[in-house]
Amino acid sequence: MTIDDASREFVRRRANYLCEYCHSPERICTTRFTVDHIIPKSLGGLDGFDNLALACRRCNKRRYNFLAGIDPKTQAIVPLFNPRTQVWSEHFTWSKNLER
Ligand SMILES: [Zn+2]
Repeated sequence: MTIDDASREFVRRRANYLCEYCHSPERICTTRFTVDHIIPKSLGGLDGFDNLALACRRCNKRRYNFLAGIDPKTQAIVPLFNPRTQVWSEHFTWSKNLER
């Protein structure tokens, strides 16, 4: 099943037109962001709004169909950020000088 235009617009508006993973604004990109399946369809994810997130092409490509990644500090395998169940500001921040 594909995401229809009304659903796509709902996801975009809910995200305030920001990538829900990196918070880049869609308006500064040359292409519209994609609607990402948080749990990939290839792994059984559904098209419901609770499984959809607005994603810039870079984040969408990097997430691919992964559900977990390696924490660079602890080397532990951890679940990837889920914008439906987690709060972005508790996990990420933008720095003014681009330092990590
Ligand atoms: Zn992004």
